[in-house]
Amino acid sequence: MTAGMPVVLEQFCRRCGWDEEIFWEDGRPTGAICDCCGSESGIGDMGARPGTWDGVKGLHDVRGWWIGHGARWTSPGSRPPDWDLLRQLRNIPEPWRTPPPPADDRERRAAGRAASASLGTETACRICGLSGPVFWRDGEPTGTVCPCCGGESGLDDLGHPGARETMRTIRARRGHWAGLGAPWADPAARPADWDVLVQLGALPPVWR
Ligand SMILES: [Zn+2]
Ligand SMILES: [Zn+2]
Repeated sequence: MTAGMPVVLEQFCRRCGWDEEIFWEDGRPTGAICDCCGSESGIGDMGARPGTWDGVKGLHDVRGWWIGHGARWTSPGSRPPDWDLLRQLRNIPEPWRTPPPPADDRERRAAGRAASASLGTETACRICGLSGPVFWRDGEPTGTVCPCCGGESGLDDLGHPGARETMRTIRARRGHWAGLGAPWADPAARPADWDVLVQLGALPPVWR
C-alpha cells in the first residue's frame, strides 16, 4: 500500500463514480472493468497518486475524454433507468477529484499559448460546451471566463486537436470539473432545466 493512500477499499470507479464493483483492495487493483465508463482498475489509473494535480490529471484526462464523448456506457444493460450522471460523478472519492490545478500551471500554459490552435471564432467553451460567449475571435483568445466551468479562454483551454498529449489540458480541466459534479462558476447563470450532456453535445468534435 502506497504511503498516504487514504482509501483501502475502493468501490467507486475513480473515473466515473459507478459503484457496482470492488475496484481496488488494500492498495491493489482487482482488474474490475467498470460497466459504465469501461475503465479497468490497475490499467488506466495505475499511475495515479492523490494529493497533487500532476498525480491525478491523468484520471481527469480520461474522465474528460469520456464525458466529452457523451458518457457512454460500456455495458448499456447495466444503466439504471433513472441514471443521473452528475449524482454518480459525486461518488468519486475525494482523492481522485482534488486538488484544483495549481496557479503556476496557469503561467506555464500562458507561455504555451503561441503553440495552441484555434478554429477561428469559437462561441462554445472547449471545456464544457457552453454556447454563447465568444471565447476565441479570429484565432485569438478573448480571455472570457466561462460562467459554467470557470475556465478562461487562452489559459485553460489551450491545445491542438488530433493528438492525445496536446489535448490533455482541455480534457483534464473538463474531467476535474466533472469530478466535482460539474458545478457552475456562476450558479445564478445555471438554467433550471440544465442538462450537462446536452451541453457537452455542443463541443466541437475536435475538442472532445
Ligand atoms: Zn467508471
Ligand atoms: Zn466552460
